[in-house]
Amino acid sequence: MSATMTTELPRGSVTDELGFPSDPDNLYLQTVNTMLEAAEAINLKHRTRIILAQPKNEIMVHFPVLMDDGHHKLFKGYRIQHNNALGPYKGGFRYHEDVHLDDVKSLAFLMTMKCALVRIPFGGGKGGVKVNPRELSPGELQRVTRRYCSAIMDQIGPDVDIPAPDVGTNAQIMAWFADTYMMSSKHQHHDALRVVTGKPVEFGGSAGREKATGQGVADVLAEMLPGIGIPLEGMKVSLLGFGNVNGWGGRILQDMGAKIIAVGDHTGFLRNDNGIDCHKLFDHNMKTGGIKGYAEADVISEEDFYRTKVDVFIPGALEQMIKAKQADWLDCKVMAEAANAPCDPSGDRRCQERGIEVIPAILANAGGVTVSYFEWVQNKNAVTWSAEQVDRELNRHMVVAAQRTLNTRARLNCSLRTAAFATALEHIGSVYKVRGIFP
Ligand code: GLU
Repeated sequence: MSATMTTELPRGSVTDELGFPSDPDNLYLQTVNTMLEAAEAINLKHRTRIILAQPKNEIMVHFPVLMDDGHHKLFKGYRIQHNNALGPYKGGFRYHEDVHLDDVKSLAFLMTMKCALVRIPFGGGKGGVKVNPRELSPGELQRVTRRYCSAIMDQIGPDVDIPAPDVGTNAQIMAWFADTYMMSSKHQHHDALRVVTGKPVEFGGSAGREKATGQGVADVLAEMLPGIGIPLEGMKVSLLGFGNVNGWGGRILQDMGAKIIAVGDHTGFLRNDNGIDCHKLFDHNMKTGGIKGYAEADVISEEDFYRTKVDVFIPGALEQMIKAKQADWLDCKVMAEAANAPCDPSGDRRCQERGIEVIPAILANAGGVTVSYFEWVQNKNAVTWSAEQVDRELNRHMVVAAQRTLNTRARLNCSLRTAAFATALEHIGSVYKVRGIFP
């Protein structure tokens, strides 16, 4: 028998084999279990399951940064490189005070699935620094970014691992990150620009990258909702989070004819049954840092926000915000996951029991990384795409990914989440099949 034709021996459960704790509320286990359910549905090889159940590399760093008051503070940072079977590790890095290992591992895993689903030639990675960026001065923010970059510099690179913005990070931070890498790495100076995406347009960024995640959510909804019996024109929407993702997504959906009737963020919850003008709310948010104080809507409680009857609820804030309690309150037909893993395991189970159609994050929010890929391609080829070209290509990727997911669902008769994971896994499985496992 040739080395590539080894038969798979029957095994026990992957989580037992790898010695995972059995905690039903652990985000990493939730992600692994979602993968395993989809793997079972498509009969994925055991070896591929165990490879994917753990990240390839877990990098943890500690670095000191000079603070404005003259003392040095030690920061903790992570870079998780989940899988690179399809291409360089790819995924954002976040600044948040609650960042910890299991979350970053889950988010890196989701990036592997996302890139495989939209068929861009990248694997999955994710990073983070445990810090509240709102508490840093611009100078401190810059120094944290440059030290984080230099701490992980030897493990990343334009063809190895390509970070990008995520929660609490933005284009300016990517510019500092790219500059640090370019000044210090052995890479050809200007080619090193590709080490990070989501850069400012004047420094190698792509047109349309900033709005890309919100645009992708809108593209997926436009493709899928008519099939679910919800017309875009006049559909009622509530938004959880109003940062980069939902700030853009809300405005784009409103311009497509949707009515945004409730919005919530870390500063409070608003409702207006005649529609909240997301363009005005966006301007207010830019000035004040939150939706609080916006005059043309009523202030409501968290419970009333979730109970607001809508066609589509779009969580676009942090992960694990929808627990069983919030899921019980929801009064929506569809949940489009604009944030990564917005439901905790109990919330996810409750949404399933209640028959809410969940469009999973690896599909709904894949627009960001897709335009990151376009940015990387433009940098590699030293060309600039027009905003129209970016929009057209993004739409094509999102529509095809949505159709692939729907086809898999029809074939396997499963949830959209299992279908999206199964679609991604089939692609990864076929690549492992032809590549084989070294040696
Ligand atoms: N942080 C974004 C995500 O979670 C974008 C990643 C990227 O552009 O690489 O999808």
